[in-house]
Amino acid sequence: MIMIRENFVQENMEKFSSQSKNCSSFFQLISNKGIRQGQFNIRGKVAKTPLFMPVATRGTVRGVSPSQLKEIGFEMILANTYHLHERPGEEVISKLGGLHRFMNWDGLILTDSGGYQVFSLSNYRKVTDEGVVFRSVLDGKEIFLTPEKVLEIQKKLNSDIAIFLDECPEYPCSAKREEESLIRTLKFAQSSIKVEKNPGQLFFGVVQGGMNFKLRQECVHALLSLGVDGLAIGGLSVGEEPSLTKEVLLATLEVIPPDKPRYLMGVGSDILEYIKMGVDMFDSVFPTRIARHGSAILYNKGRINISNKRFKEDESPLDEDCDCYTCRNFSRAYLRHLFVCGELLGKTLLSIHNLTVLYKTVRALNS
Ligand SMILES: [Zn+2]
Repeated sequence: MIMIRENFVQENMEKFSSQSKNCSSFFQLISNKGIRQGQFNIRGKVAKTPLFMPVATRGTVRGVSPSQLKEIGFEMILANTYHLHERPGEEVISKLGGLHRFMNWDGLILTDSGGYQVFSLSNYRKVTDEGVVFRSVLDGKEIFLTPEKVLEIQKKLNSDIAIFLDECPEYPCSAKREEESLIRTLKFAQSSIKVEKNPGQLFFGVVQGGMNFKLRQECVHALLSLGVDGLAIGGLSVGEEPSLTKEVLLATLEVIPPDKPRYLMGVGSDILEYIKMGVDMFDSVFPTRIARHGSAILYNKGRINISNKRFKEDESPLDEDCDCYTCRNFSRAYLRHLFVCGELLGKTLLSIHNLTVLYKTVRALNS
């Protein structure tokens, strides 16, 4: 196993050396002192980093319209390849002009590989070096996804950043399993890089290797040697202690060249700490999910549940320190009323607020 990895790095080292000299035109590192600040320029659209991406699982951030996302300030969102492949299917979206047009979002879109959904949603799956076979969570139909197919789907969606298929080992797992999943992830990456990109589209490889620092670092080197545009760090925050997450992340970031964008997949807590460590991009369903349950994030004051009786006659805004659409226009009493009655608008208004807090907190670090 170790030989395979060593050969892999060796074979690609020459290519890596020549590529690392090229400054990427799609990502500019503006400052590397203290907080990393950068800027994407993809297909003429700009997104400043560090950035937080709201999750539009099925081509919609639940309960929030694209114009509301724009008003908050978001420049990039994430959509789920697997869910869109299931419904309505990439062919339909492609026929209707791609995902941007289909959902009427003119900002940037990153699509995940769908691998995480395969591993987390399906209770039946078989992974080989060629790809993964699993049953649809919708109708039980058998689906075979290869690294190439996953990218073909993302090409049809025409996302701006596409992610390679990877294999995320479960946690905890044996050292052997960590190594096996790393090798498979790299084999997938080798097949993925041969797929031709859509014009202007970027390809990100996924860093795996479990909790093993050395494997993580080898994975980074190997992916860079293939010439990926950026690195998505997967398989973290999967049940391990937060202190371990940070140690593994630090070891991973240590070997990524400064000009490469780094995206920490699916991690929605401790974001500020990870930004200080050098992560550029995040996504999480957390702010919108808790909003739909009435939970509001306050600037520097923790969280409140708006359904609480104590807000029944509270005329103050949700958060006095916030100037979002919700806080400018509605009282806690009204928002509580919407939640008590199960009105949809309550979920939308709280989602707008929570997303604003996340957006502004992260944006304050690059303004
Ligand atoms: Zn607000």
